[in-house]
Amino acid sequence: MSVRVGVLALQGDTREHLAALTEAGAEAVTVRRLTELQSVDALVIPGGESTAMSHLLGEFELLEPLRGLLRDGLPAYGSCAGMILLASEILDAGVPGRAALPLGGIDMTVRRNAFGRQVDSFEEDLTFTGLDTPVHAVFIRAPWVERVGPAVQVLATAGGHPVAVRQGQVLATSFHPEMTGDRRVHALFVDMVTGR
Ligand code: GLN
Repeated sequence: MSVRVGVLALQGDTREHLAALTEAGAEAVTVRRLTELQSVDALVIPGGESTAMSHLLGEFELLEPLRGLLRDGLPAYGSCAGMILLASEILDAGVPGRAALPLGGIDMTVRRNAFGRQVDSFEEDLTFTGLDTPVHAVFIRAPWVERVGPAVQVLATAGGHPVAVRQGQVLATSFHPEMTGDRRVHALFVDMVTGR
């Protein structure tokens, strides 16, 4: 039986993740309500704008339930804005009342828009632990990771900063594999969920 993976569909590039997950062999569904969140085996948080997504998580009353599910071991993958939200601490989170809010899926400190202060967007081929050839990584106003806890594995770096990390069954990338045709990162996540 295929694994059922939700894509948080409040804001951001939901469609690209749904397509990538389907191609990686998962049953991909959108998640906007609590009942939908509770029905999935794993969750993807897309790229987009972490401050807007945080606000909408509050409006849709998903913020605390999602924190609780992650604490209880819900497997998750976040790209870019999704990585920011999966952090336990966010630097440059935005203005109070409209800031990006950490969900605490990975014990790490992430700096929002970190690369964006230097150059808005760039692309780079990255060595990625577990994949035998480099991944073509697309960065758009991307975060980087400034601190990782002892349980966190760094899978890829760019400019000396971790940009792909994993803790247990939670994965995060600063870049957007959903925007390229390469499905290996999504396939890695599906394998993490199924325990392959
Ligand atoms: N800078 C965005 C944020 O703060 C992330 C950009 C992206 O997801 N491409 O959420």
